[in-house]
Parts: sequence; structure tokens; C-alpha cells
Amino acid sequence: MSGGLRIRDLRVVFDGFVAVDGVDLDVAPGDLRFLIGPNGAGKTTLVDAVTGLVRASGSARFGETELLGRDVHRIVRLGVGRTFQTAAVFEELTVLQNLDIAAGAGRGPWTMLRRRRGIPDDVAKALETIGLADRRDDLAGTLAHGQKQWLEIGMLLVQDAKLLLLDEPVAGMSHEEREATGALLEAVSGERTVVVIEHDMDFLRRFARTVTVLHAGKVLSEGTVAQVQADPRVQEVYLGHAAKEA
Ligand code: ADP
Ligand code: MG
Repeated sequence: MSGGLRIRDLRVVFDGFVAVDGVDLDVAPGDLRFLIGPNGAGKTTLVDAVTGLVRASGSARFGETELLGRDVHRIVRLGVGRTFQTAAVFEELTVLQNLDIAAGAGRGPWTMLRRRRGIPDDVAKALETIGLADRRDDLAGTLAHGQKQWLEIGMLLVQDAKLLLLDEPVAGMSHEEREATGALLEAVSGERTVVVIEHDMDFLRRFARTVTVLHAGKVLSEGTVAQVQADPRVQEVYLGHAAKEA
């Protein structure tokens, strides 16, 4: 079972500009949490702070372990994985090779040699989970946009990340790809804790278990989809805005 994420008074300041402004955030073990909010709300910066990419003050604990102040690689080894807004797979390597490299991060050379005799169970399982078993020998560069995002999620699975922080994984996806991604996130959560940054309200209504709304670096609202949608402050700054765009 995964640990939960407990953030207290998180602050990130860039040259005097406060991007994350005293955020408290609890994500229960196994939750599928959506983190939403207008552009510039501080969503990516929050994930950057938790994964050691930017300096932050306050506290961000995963289970019992404080993450702030640790380096990026240590945080990965503690079981915290993230994806970026732009997919970061090795395009010139196969799907299987991408997964092997991710798995190899926590393994010695003997495991890498052994794998030549077959695919390790966790890699085979990840291939099934992300729906790319029949593409395993294809170059990652030949995958569709959505499939690259799934491969990235698969790389987190074989790293055995227990907390997955996904930055806009369905951006640019077709409706079918979104549905498949939602099903994937449902399958992955439970055993693992998942935080998804996402703008798309239809996708959120369909798949979010809980929602946190960020606005100008602060938590504006939090709760179930219904609670957040009924919150007048959310309607004003976010849903109203989104409705106008639609
Ligand atoms: P979101 O992901 O919610 O769209 P970000 O976390 O990317 O928002 O950005 C929050 C705010 O912090 C924005 O105003 C952005 O311009 C600013 N910001 C992000 N990264 C940096 C940086 N490295 N230096 C200065 N300002 C930054
Ligand atoms: Mg962002």
C-alpha cells in the first residue's frame, strides 16, 4: 500500500514572485486526486517542489519521509515519480528498452543481463497495464502522442513509484485516448497514490475522486467533484473562465 502525501505551508518564491503561497494539501494513500486551476496557478511549480526541482519552504512528506531538501534522485528512489507536460521518452529506443532503462534505475547489472533471457514480470505487467504489449518492439518515436504518455506512466510503474505526479497527461489527446488514460489512472491508483494536473472539466468529472483547486499559488477549494463544482469561488475564477472559453 502506498503512503499519502502531506504538504504544509509550501512556499516557492522566484525572484520575489510567490508562485506557491502557503499551500496545505493532503492526499490520502491510494487516492486519485485532480489538481486544477487557471494557467499560472502554481500547479507545475508545486509538483516541481515536491520532486526536488525547485527550492521550497514548508514541508512535503510522503508517508513518514520529508521530501523537501532532498535531491531529485533520492526522491525518485523514495518512490515518488512524475511526468512532465511534454512527454520525455527515448524516441530512438523501443518501448521495451524505455521500460528497461526505467526499471534499471533501481537494479544492478546482473538483473540487466538476466533480462536478455526474458522480460521481467514487472515490465511485462507494466506493458499490459499501459496497453502497449503489442508495441513493445516498436521505436517509441513511432507511438501516437497518447501512447507516449502511457509509456511514461509505464516507466514510473516499473520504477515502482508509489506516488505518481502527472502534469497534464491528457493534453492534446483524442477523446478515445482520454478515456483510455482515465481507465489507466483508475487501475493504477488504489495500490498507488496519483495526483493529476488537468484542465479538462469533462475528464475531471468523469475520473476524479477528489479535487484541489489552486489559484494564484493558494488552495481555493477542495473536496469531491460535486463539492468543488458547487463552490461559488471556483465557479468565479475557474469554471466561469472555462465556460467562457468553451
Ligand atoms: P501552472 O502549472 O499552474 O500553469 P506554474 O506553476 O507553471 O503554473 O507557474 C506559476 C507561476 O510561477 C507563473 O506565474 C509562472 O510564470 C511562474 N514561474 C514558474 N516557473 C518559474 C521560474 N522558473 N521562474 C520564474 N517564474 C516562474
Ligand atoms: Mg503547468
